[in-house]
Amino acid sequence: MTGARVGSSLTDEQEAIRELVREFAVEELRPGAGEADEAESFPEDAWDGLAELGLTGLTVPEAYGGFDAGETTYAVVNEELAYGHLAVATALSVHCLATSCIAEFGSEAQRERWLPEMAAAGRPVGMFCLSEPHAGSNPAEMSTTAEYDPETDEYVLNGEKQWITNGTRGGVAIVFAKAVDPDGENADGDDTGSITQFLVPADAEGFEVGKKEEKLGLRASDTTGISFGDCRVPAENRLTQEGKGLSAAFRTLTGGRIGIAAQAVGVARAALDEATAYAAEREQFGEPIAEIQTIRHKFAEMATDVSAARLLVREACRQAEAGEDNRVAASKAKYRASEAAMSVTNEAVQIHGGYGYTTDFDVERLYRDAKITEIYEGTTEIQKTIIARGVLGK
Ligand SMILES: Cc1cc2nc3c(=O)[nH]c(=O)nc-3n(C[C@H](O)[C@H](O)[C@H](O)COP(=O)(O)OP(=O)(O)OC[C@H]3O[C@@H](n4cnc5c(N)ncnc54)[C@H](O)[C@@H]3O)c2cc1C
Repeated sequence: MTGARVGSSLTDEQEAIRELVREFAVEELRPGAGEADEAESFPEDAWDGLAELGLTGLTVPEAYGGFDAGETTYAVVNEELAYGHLAVATALSVHCLATSCIAEFGSEAQRERWLPEMAAAGRPVGMFCLSEPHAGSNPAEMSTTAEYDPETDEYVLNGEKQWITNGTRGGVAIVFAKAVDPDGENADGDDTGSITQFLVPADAEGFEVGKKEEKLGLRASDTTGISFGDCRVPAENRLTQEGKGLSAAFRTLTGGRIGIAAQAVGVARAALDEATAYAAEREQFGEPIAEIQTIRHKFAEMATDVSAARLLVREACRQAEAGEDNRVAASKAKYRASEAAMSVTNEAVQIHGGYGYTTDFDVERLYRDAKITEIYEGTTEIQKTIIARGVLGK
């Protein structure tokens, strides 16, 4: 790779971005993460800081004022932000799902209307509304509908979405719904084939933000239900043809999964660093616990897990940048990196002993935060299903 540094697969530009985001994560995100978690309040100042760095336009094309980051740069930014505070990295990755959909599927007028503001100011904040109360791992079972009204040239959306990141702070949503005719029949009579992608501003009539979830971890990230009650959007807000929404969602989520995998690496690395500092300082039996062989072996395993997970992330990025089909590689990265986040944060708490079980130490929050990386944007079981299909051919 041209411009790559010796000993690093990153280009000089990617290294510079990594250093910039790392500094921001350490100085601006990490110090307030515990307090934001406890207050269950999203750190809006940090979001404005991301916008100042240009990161809210991470996946927005340059023509609309964005960064137009490739997959590797996207992953590097996600790892560093999650090292500082996973809730902020998550909010950004969902915002990026929304900007990516507008950039890829929106009309020229929609791109000009939304992308420059979303990139430059990070507002309106983007949302990605796929999951529903009864349709998570299998979004094809969604029941939200979109009925075309020829008199007004609008679609009328009805239904309920769940687990929507940025729910209370979002200004524009990418919404997936089944196109139906006035009798409630699917557009093409097929149960899954009618899923269609729409752009819905949060101030549209009938767009309702529901209950904010109280969660095990990722507590500073707001997660809500969103309901649509006769919510009308102009027909031009349909981003895909009727029936092309689900394949578009899956394509967007392949990129998203690499971001989540990179975030898992960031959380694991943060826990490893916390444990390293603690083990050097904590003494038992007259010596720092870092001298005890059993503890040293934990560090060997944790460090290997972090490196292996990052290599899987980089391989998924490389395949994407080479124009290869990287769906299996993205699933391998997400599966293994989220597992690494769980096991490394678990061992980091263990190395802290009783202190690790208290909110006085960051490892307690990191342990709780890590769990979500095994669930959102496709659970571990779904990643394994995709990998097995890739191996076995069906
Ligand atoms: C904090 C948070 C933020 C989120 N943000 C968003 C968001 O912004 N937008 C959005 O659209 N969604 C979001 N989600 C939803 C998330 O993607 C789903 O929770 C996830 O896809 C799992 O769906 P589910 O919760 O309905 O679980 P289910 O699908 O009900 O799964 C339950 C269990 O069954 C397993 N399972 C299901 N089907 C299979 C199968 N075929 N084979 C093997 N095992 C299976 C699952 O792996 C899991 O262990 C978020 C979720 C959370 C918790």
